[in-house]
Amino acid sequence: MTDKMLKFTDISQETPPKRETIKRKKDFSEIYDEYIETKAKEQSSRCSQCGVPFCQIHCPLSNNIPDWLKLTAEGRLEDAYKLSQSTNNMPEVCGRICPQDRLCEGNCVIEQSGHGTVTIGSIEKYITDTAWEKGWVKPVVVKKELKESVGIIGSGPAGLACAEELRKFGFQVTIYDRYDRPGGLLIYGIPNFKLEKNIVERRTKLLKDSGINFVLNFEVGKNKSLYELKKKHDAILIATGVYKAREIEVPGSNLKNIFPAMDFLTASNKKGLGDKVDLFDNGTLNAEGKDIVVIGGGDTAMDCVRTAVRQKAKSVKCLYRRDKENMPGSAREVGNAIEEGVDFVWLTSPKKFLGKDKVEEVEVNKMILGEPDQSGRRKPISQDGSEFKMPADLVIKSLGFDPEDIPNLFGAEELAVSKWGTIKIDLRSMQTNLEGVFAAGDIVRGASLVVWAIRDGRDAAVQIEKFISDKRKKLKKDFAA
Ligand SMILES: Cc1cc2nc3c(=O)[nH]c(=O)nc-3n(C[C@H](O)[C@H](O)[C@H](O)COP(=O)(O)OP(=O)(O)OC[C@H]3O[C@@H](n4cnc5c(N)ncnc54)[C@H](O)[C@@H]3O)c2cc1C
Ligand code: SF4
Repeated sequence: MTDKMLKFTDISQETPPKRETIKRKKDFSEIYDEYIETKAKEQSSRCSQCGVPFCQIHCPLSNNIPDWLKLTAEGRLEDAYKLSQSTNNMPEVCGRICPQDRLCEGNCVIEQSGHGTVTIGSIEKYITDTAWEKGWVKPVVVKKELKESVGIIGSGPAGLACAEELRKFGFQVTIYDRYDRPGGLLIYGIPNFKLEKNIVERRTKLLKDSGINFVLNFEVGKNKSLYELKKKHDAILIATGVYKAREIEVPGSNLKNIFPAMDFLTASNKKGLGDKVDLFDNGTLNAEGKDIVVIGGGDTAMDCVRTAVRQKAKSVKCLYRRDKENMPGSAREVGNAIEEGVDFVWLTSPKKFLGKDKVEEVEVNKMILGEPDQSGRRKPISQDGSEFKMPADLVIKSLGFDPEDIPNLFGAEELAVSKWGTIKIDLRSMQTNLEGVFAAGDIVRGASLVVWAIRDGRDAAVQIEKFISDKRKKLKKDFAA
């Protein structure tokens, strides 16, 4: 073992510095500064090089973390990059937005022994950002072009990862997306301060340069049915994500200025990209000078409150029906929101929205926590007579997402879905009940994580290749017979 490693007893944990709160609240730029090279080397050298690396086991992509940390500590960054990208199609994205506290870093052995985890995510980001800077990130070079084509519906991380892997096999790949830009939630959901858009755009450009064809503003179900698309391609991947916002059924829900989280975030992301957005430009979806109430406690709610802060809201409140310890969102993101001045009103649930035409106030009930429910979290119970009101010019609902009715939308009633509406697949072949139609990402798992979408996209590519080559072999055999 190199003497460069196992330094966790001598070197303490240091994350890249966060920008000062006062400054970062004023813009949409990412909040963490880059590591400098010496720091990245130093922090990598803290890794204890475990025989059984729990970080790797708990990374959905089984990234070879101990090895790329060792290479970084030795200053062999290009080798570290090659290794890191061999299991991950966008390591710089995961390094930025994976909830590492629940995945790799949360399971780091030196974290368990009280020394503070190796800062795996930040180092992963550093390695790949350096690789981009140095020109080591290259488009796919196809050794042998194949005639078979695959159509991918959805250009989120699942679709993009699958496309890149299929292209490496030599397939002709077309990605269809109903949005005007590729990237799915990476581009229109996740805000800039977590993931700057140029990071996503340089990835999608790389895929274009790899020969992947993008057909944008193309909605499957509207522009073509699933069956029409199936005729054009040898296989199809459905990677459409989940977009149906969950509703709050309380009096006053029909008042104006109550919006689902994605409307608010998409408008903000589009403005950041320089688009004209009528509902933002006329002030409706702009939080500036307003009392904002966000309902929900997940990562999307955190993105909304922090976006509202940056849009210079007068006040930003987050209503959550459980307490801080029982929030579903990443503790890191909640901490960032608190630092940025968001007012968390724990143990509250909206009872009514009040106002003449537009929402003016939210009446809330206080909650107490009862016994744990099926999810293992304590069940919130409303307290009678505990109501109080708070002012609200704009209410943002962030209660999670369900799948749209894909069989109906796609004109493919036979496509099998689960009781939650997610697409059913054979977990080994990743194929749906329709031959040659595969599915991956949130539309199979329900709302999940980018890193799982990438994993699914990669697995789907392997299965699609197998499906097409089996078909090819069968054709050859039949022809020979
Ligand atoms: C606000 C927000 C913040 C998040 N933050 C994080 C985070 O910090 N870290 C993390 O790991 N995860 C985060 N997530 C979750 C993560 O973004 C998703 O799990 C991931 O993007 C799912 O990838 P996907 O490829 O399955 O779908 P998506 O990214 O949703 O992409 C699906 C694509 O399919 C397209 N599409 C849908 N229907 C059609 C159709 N009929 N025809 C053509 N195209 C269609 C859509 O336009 C979209 O581009 C966040 C999610 C949200 C909403
Ligand atoms: S992909 Fe995510 S979970 Fe895996 S090593 Fe990177 S940050 Fe950790």
